[in-house]
Amino acid sequence: DFERLRGLLLSRIRDVPDYPKPGVLFKDITPLLADPEAFTALTDALAGLARERGATKVVGLEARGFILAAPAAVRAGVGFIPVRKAGKLPGATLSQAYELEYGSAEIEIHAEDLDPEDRVLVIDDVLATGGTAEASLRLIRRSGAQVAGVAVLMELGFLPGRTRLEAALEGAPLDVV
Ligand code: AMP
Repeated sequence: DFERLRGLLLSRIRDVPDYPKPGVLFKDITPLLADPEAFTALTDALAGLARERGATKVVGLEARGFILAAPAAVRAGVGFIPVRKAGKLPGATLSQAYELEYGSAEIEIHAEDLDPEDRVLVIDDVLATGGTAEASLRLIRRSGAQVAGVAVLMELGFLPGRTRLEAALEGAPLDVV
């Protein structure tokens, strides 16, 4: 059940203080990935969400989003599409710049892999400021496809990620597994 799943998943996330810099509490999912029971349970939960939301494609956000989204896409029987940091995709890309706490970043997608009929679920491990997820929703909308929702393993409650995402979601759901 849901409480047991949550407990199992959270018990396999390692909090690393002051990584990668002082003041940041890093949520390390590698213990979860190393535990087949936990990784399978997470994959099943994400695949279930993809089906529930009527997703026809799953987008994973570089880099840890790839690890969670790809097996979920396979299990849900839908395609996987990577959203990558700028300069990594060889084909024709759509690019989206977004603001970080200090400076800015840019992500890209191969738009030809999305059709206007597609409903896309975005998956990542951690929602922090929400900037990356928000930019990925812009990419999906600019490609002409629909947004089925965003699913993350963890939401950092003390950062306004949910608020920042809200406008970009346009009513689509944000799920925390
Ligand atoms: P943001 O755009 O601020 O929501 O940041 C989201 C991205 O940064 C995600 O892809 C996360 O993997 C990563 N991230 C941000 N903060 C943390 C954290 N405290 N622990 C682990 N990953 C983080």
